Amino acid sequence: MQNAIGLIGLAVMGQNLVLNTANHGFPIAVYNRTTETMREFIAGLSSEPEDKVWPGSRDRITGYEHLTDLVASLERPRRVMMMVKAGKPVDAVIDQLRPLLDPGDLIIDGGNSDFRDSRRRSRELRDHGLLFVGAGVSGGEEGALKGPSIMPGGHPEAWPLVSDIFQSIAAKVGPHGDIPCCDWVGEDGAGHYVKMVHNGIEYGDMQLICEAYFVLKHALGLSNSQLHQVFKAWNESELESYLIEITRDIFTVKDPESGGFLVDQILDAAQQKGTGRLMSQHALELGVPTTLITEAVYARALSSQKDARVRAAAVLPGADGAFNGDHSRFIEDVRLALYASKLVSYAQGFVQLDAAASEFGWELDNGNIAMLWRGGCIIRSVFLEDIKAAFVADPSLENLLLDDFFRGAIERSQESWRGTVLTAVKLGLPVPGFAAALSYYDGYRCERLPANLLQAQRDYFGAHRYERLDSPRGETFHTDWLRER
Ligand code: NAP
Repeated sequence: MQNAIGLIGLAVMGQNLVLNTANHGFPIAVYNRTTETMREFIAGLSSEPEDKVWPGSRDRITGYEHLTDLVASLERPRRVMMMVKAGKPVDAVIDQLRPLLDPGDLIIDGGNSDFRDSRRRSRELRDHGLLFVGAGVSGGEEGALKGPSIMPGGHPEAWPLVSDIFQSIAAKVGPHGDIPCCDWVGEDGAGHYVKMVHNGIEYGDMQLICEAYFVLKHALGLSNSQLHQVFKAWNESELESYLIEITRDIFTVKDPESGGFLVDQILDAAQQKGTGRLMSQHALELGVPTTLITEAVYARALSSQKDARVRAAAVLPGADGAFNGDHSRFIEDVRLALYASKLVSYAQGFVQLDAAASEFGWELDNGNIAMLWRGGCIIRSVFLEDIKAAFVADPSLENLLLDDFFRGAIERSQESWRGTVLTAVKLGLPVPGFAAALSYYDGYRCERLPANLLQAQRDYFGAHRYERLDSPRGETFHTDWLRER
């Protein structure tokens, strides 16, 4: 029997993708740099439960100790997928594979690679006559096993070679559960770019939820049981999503050590692997204001300075006072502040995607991209359907906030949103995500910003010149400000 695909890299993601692929009927060849890991994986297959290794799947998985043998076992054109650590290991594996493959064969990188590396690899492999797909895979280990969201980019002629496997193993959504969360994204690094934006949006969503929690806990003094009820209700609103659902459940989990709730025993120092930061860095390079996600990255950074914060908390004065409004009303205000801020976060994410698309010559279908995130990944939510609808109504939509649905949603939420930020500021509670989203919204809808003064300052000290409102765009002027004073 020839194998349909080979997979290199049998850590947690690779192993689960192998099982998922075999469960969907595709014979698969597997290899790992450390051979013992491959042997243990193959040996362990017989003791896995049937919901993990479906009947018959075991026989479809073959382990190889040498890459030459894995490659020789594959149908032509050969398809080899890497699930190895991002960075240098990917180049190392490509270097080993290249001499073993023939023109027209396909190398797929399913790891969290930097999109710039994928652009380079796409070029280099094209020069060797090989096809390349850089596929973002989201959903963690459970997604990899039961159906991830897959965002493939690279050489377009490679897509028909992998679409059958990828769309079979991807998460399915829609009224009949048959729409795969996997579709072609675009050329070279587009798949990994979209995955990076997904991860950035995930940072933003998580930060906003944490701010809502913090404000409700400290302004209203809600207990974990009350917070559970609030998030339960929110998950039955337009906020319905995986992240709200798991937050709801987190508030019910007890800590066996202390007898209290586990969430209260967890150190408030957030870690990060860097994909949110990567998105923010690239936003700066493109000159697009992805402010909310960047604030989310900074919020994690500030949280991780726990010792410094403890020292500062002992000496720095804050705001006095207590919340004295209506509790139910405020809970609804916070919900709407979270919703409105989330709308801004996604709007910013798609603006960045558009900017990257024009920078790199990608033809991205934003509505389709929203649907790739509808299932299998951390940011899955019903709200993505509204994004899809907005881009279907106007494929060249400049900013989601201009769509009728989004505009209406903000109009309904903005009083609550502003009220929540005001209350938090008055009580000295940090809400960087809510506030950044609101400032972006107010800046974006502001016809005249104070940048006229900024341009005057630049011209004053550096003769950087300015444009005038009453002259054609592009025509620039300089004033000798000292003489004119
Ligand atoms: P990982 O810890 O990122 O990588 C471990 C795998 O890489 C092992 O198979 C390891 O082989 C192999 N490897 C490392 N250096 C190598 C080299 N120089 N040559 C050949 N192989 C090498 O594993 P993972 O968590 O399963 O993730 C795999 C990829 O998916 C990564 O890019 C990751 O960022 C991405 N991803 C992970 C998640 C997640 O939730 N974990 C979610 C989405 C995407 P040895 O056993 O020989 O060391």
